[in-house]
Amino acid sequence: MSCSFVWLKDDFRISNNQAITALIEDDNKEKIALYIYEEEAYRFCESQKWWLAKSLEIFQKKLEILKISLDVVHENTTKSFKKLISNNSFNRIYWNKSCHVNDNIIEEEIKKILNNNNIFYKEFEANLLNPVEKIKKDDGSPFKVFTHYWKKAEQTYLRNNHKFNDKIFKNYNQDLKKNKNIQAIYPKKNWYKKFEKYWVPSEENAEKILNSFIKNSIDNYSVNRDIPSIEGTSKLSPYLKFGQISVNRIMEKCLEIKNKKIGFRKYINEIGWREFCHSLLHNFPEMERNNLRKDFDNFKWNKNEKLLLKWKKGLTGYPIVDAGMRELYETGWMHNRVRMIVASFLVKHLRIHWLEGEKYFRNTLLDFNIANNVAGWQWVAGTGADAAPYFRIFNPILQGEKFDSKGDYIKKWCPELKNIPNEFLHKPWEMPEELQKEKNIILGKTYPLPIVKHEEARNLALKAFQDLKK
Ligand SMILES: Cc1cc2nc3c(=O)[nH]c(=O)nc-3n(C[C@H](O)[C@H](O)[C@H](O)COP(=O)(O)OP(=O)(O)OC[C@H]3O[C@@H](n4cnc5c(N)ncnc54)[C@H](O)[C@@H]3O)c2cc1C
Repeated sequence: MSCSFVWLKDDFRISNNQAITALIEDDNKEKIALYIYEEEAYRFCESQKWWLAKSLEIFQKKLEILKISLDVVHENTTKSFKKLISNNSFNRIYWNKSCHVNDNIIEEEIKKILNNNNIFYKEFEANLLNPVEKIKKDDGSPFKVFTHYWKKAEQTYLRNNHKFNDKIFKNYNQDLKKNKNIQAIYPKKNWYKKFEKYWVPSEENAEKILNSFIKNSIDNYSVNRDIPSIEGTSKLSPYLKFGQISVNRIMEKCLEIKNKKIGFRKYINEIGWREFCHSLLHNFPEMERNNLRKDFDNFKWNKNEKLLLKWKKGLTGYPIVDAGMRELYETGWMHNRVRMIVASFLVKHLRIHWLEGEKYFRNTLLDFNIANNVAGWQWVAGTGADAAPYFRIFNPILQGEKFDSKGDYIKKWCPELKNIPNEFLHKPWEMPEELQKEKNIILGKTYPLPIVKHEEARNLALKAFQDLKK
C-alpha cells in the first residue's frame, strides 16, 4: 500500500517540525498523521487531557489544509503498530523523537518492529536544543552541576547551523469539528472547562505570545520574573511541552534581539534549565521515583493526609502558599517563584514527601513534564542535583513580603483577604479581633488559621535533617 504516516506525539505545530516536513515532501499521495492515545500515560495527568484534546482538535484543522488526515486511536502503541503493519496500512513513517526517556524506550521497540518488517522509517531530533545524549563531560560522564552543563550545551548549540522551515504558516478555518476519539480524551470532570478562559493551545498563539514577550517583557525579565502579580514570564511552558512551539524557534527569536540586556541572558539560562532537567532524567532515570541524593533515603517524611489536603486546596493559612495553590487549580499553571514557595512549604514545613507534591503537580499542571517536574521537586527538597540545600528553608511570610509586597497576587487568588491591611497581608493571624470584625475577616472561619507555626515547623525540619546525619 502506498501510504505515508507521521507518528504524531507532542509536536502540534507545522512550522519547524521535521517529521511533518518530511511527510509533506513524501511522494505518496495518501498521508496520515497518527496519534496513539494511551490512557495509562495520562492516568495522573487530568488537566493535560484537556490541553491534549484541544490541541488535537485545532491541529486536525491545520492538517486538513495540507491534505493530511488525522487518525486518533486509543490503544497500546506496540499493539497499534503491529495491527497497522499486519493490515499493510503504510510503507513509510516519520516521527520526531520524544523528549522523555520512557517514550524513547517505546521508540526503540517500534524501530525493531519496523526493521523486522522492512518498513522505511526516519526519526528526527526531539524538541531540545541538543540531542539529549550528546552533552557530557570530557570524560564521558553526565553533568550534575547546571553552570558547567549549560556552558557546554549552549556553546554546542551555537556552533551548529540551525535551519528552520517556517514556510507553512496558513490561515485556517477555526470552527472545530467533533471527532469522537478526540472527545473521549477530555477529562470527565467539568474542572477543565475553565481552562478555556486562559489558554488557546495553538501554534499561532504560541508565536504571538513569544513575539509579545520579546517586545514587551524580556528586557526586564531578570527582575519581573520573580513578581507573581505581573506577567513577567513568557508562560510558554505548556506550548513547549506539547510542541506548539519549538525551543529552537524560541532561541532563534531571542538571538535576533539587537540590544541584548541582562533579561535576555537570564531567559536563555531558564531555557538552559529545561535542557539540564532533561539531561538529568536521561542520565539518571531512577530519579523519577527516587532521591537522586541517596543520603536522603532515610529521611523521616511525615505521612499526613489531612495536611496534604489542606495544602492542595490552598487552605494552609499562609496567604502566598494558598494563593499559589488556588492559581494552579483555577488556571492549570503556577508562577515559578510561587512553585518554589509552595513546594518548600510541603517538603519542609509539613515534611511531606516530595513525591506527593510531584504527583499533585502532575495531575494539575498543564505544562507538566516529568523532567522539569521531578527535577524541580528534587531541587526544592534538596534531594536533587545542584539543589537548594535542605537547611535553606523558605520563610513564606518573608517570601510574600518580598515578592508580593502590596498583596496584589494574594488578593487576586484569595479574595476573602481583599480588605486586609498591608501590615497583616502575610501574617493575618496577627490581626487583632476587633480589626478582623471590622474588615470582615474572621480567622478560622473566613480564612484559615495557619496549619503549622512557621518557627516550630522550621525547627522540626532542621531536626529531621540533623537526624539524617547521625
Ligand atoms: C516544584 C517545581 C515543579 C516544576 N514543574 C514543572 C513542570 O512540570 N513543567 C515545566 O515546564 N516546568 C516546571 N517547573 C519549572 C518552572 O516553574 C516552569 O517551567 C515555569 O514556571 C514556566 O513558566 P514560563 O513558561 O512563564 O517560564 P519562563 O520564565 O518564561 O521560562 C521559559 C521556559 O524556560 C523553562 N524553565 C523556566 N524555569 C525553569 C526551571 N526552573 N526548570 C526548568 N525549566 C525552566 C520552561 O520551559 C519555560 O517555559 C517546576 C518548578 C518547580 C519549582
